[in-house]
Amino acid sequence: MGAGQSGAARPALGDGPWEPIAPDGEAFRLDGIELYEVELPLLEPFVGPAMKELSKRAILVRVEAGTTSGWGECPVPSAPHYSEEWIEGAWMAIQDFLVPALVPEKKLESPGEMAARLAVVRGHPIAKSGLEAAVIDAWCKRASIGLADWLGSPSPSVDCGVVLGATEPSQALRQATKFLGQGYQRLKVKIWPGSGLQTLEAIRGEFPDAALAGDANGSFAAASPQELSTLDDMGLSLVEQPLPAEQWLGHAGLARRMTTPICLDESIRSAFDVDLAAHLRAATSLNLKPARMGGIIQARLALDLARLHGIDAWVGGMIETGIGRAVSIALAAQEGITAPNDISASDRHFGLDITEPFEVDSSGKMALPAGSGIGTAPLDSILAAHTRRHKVVWSWV
Ligand SMILES: [Mg+2]
Repeated sequence: MGAGQSGAARPALGDGPWEPIAPDGEAFRLDGIELYEVELPLLEPFVGPAMKELSKRAILVRVEAGTTSGWGECPVPSAPHYSEEWIEGAWMAIQDFLVPALVPEKKLESPGEMAARLAVVRGHPIAKSGLEAAVIDAWCKRASIGLADWLGSPSPSVDCGVVLGATEPSQALRQATKFLGQGYQRLKVKIWPGSGLQTLEAIRGEFPDAALAGDANGSFAAASPQELSTLDDMGLSLVEQPLPAEQWLGHAGLARRMTTPICLDESIRSAFDVDLAAHLRAATSLNLKPARMGGIIQARLALDLARLHGIDAWVGGMIETGIGRAVSIALAAQEGITAPNDISASDRHFGLDITEPFEVDSSGKMALPAGSGIGTAPLDSILAAHTRRHKVVWSWV
């Protein structure tokens, strides 16, 4: 763990770029909010400990605000295996609680005011993140500013890694060869007791210099000492979330015993958890996901705190469609991101993305989308073809 930036001012939610942007001098007024549940075929099932997604379901949020509109995504899984949230629960949370909390008045003075209104609902960060992203997209579009610029001074592109879908060694090796050939800068393998270590060893044997990571999604509490020792001897860039999210002291103990950097994902539910990770020395790397933390504002604050504490940070993925991916890219382009992100091209998971496809170049970089707001929007024909349900949940008129 680094020493941090001594003497640097501690960032807070009220700081920075999320102050009001009102080029016309008028407050931001919401006119309508609608939800789409979409389902996109995955090119291959996405498998991890206690999860298997055969298709990608997500909730897309669209807000109307005067002459502009905005889009956000809740990349919420179909079952509560990653966190407590799942798609049916997120839909109800948005419709029954978050939208009523947001719109007792249609006027918003700042995005920070929105976060305060949504905070009256406990939890449900993935549900909140989609609603927040849609409002901020519209907000930035009205001001003709890109989301990444609104968040700070972004790089023009982001470094991309990729999560392998296969856990069987020979199949995973074929995928690894393909992805490294496509330019991806880091490979990540899902691991759990009894699965994944042989896959990591096979890839390490074939590609001794590749940046390689293992993600246990909290499953390694049941691992044997031998499995932990084997894992620690493979020269991994990091091992992600070896223990369940709430096992802070366990992670601090592993961080002392293991030479491989410990990365936290599910444990980091808000920016406050970055302070906790630093205080306990429980991680030297953080996987920051805007959706897991309730949105881009909280995630940006978490990134600022990671910089303050001298902890590596990068942006992870939740198999987002192009809408959620655009938000992740905006965060991944910010100062303080120190490792490749789990942000892959649209064709990693989808034959057809909901937006124009995102691509990775041969050096493993993805360019930021041009344009204001998140820089993209659903393509009408694909949205229509893949919408399972649609509902206007609030309208001013
Ligand atoms: Mg993870």
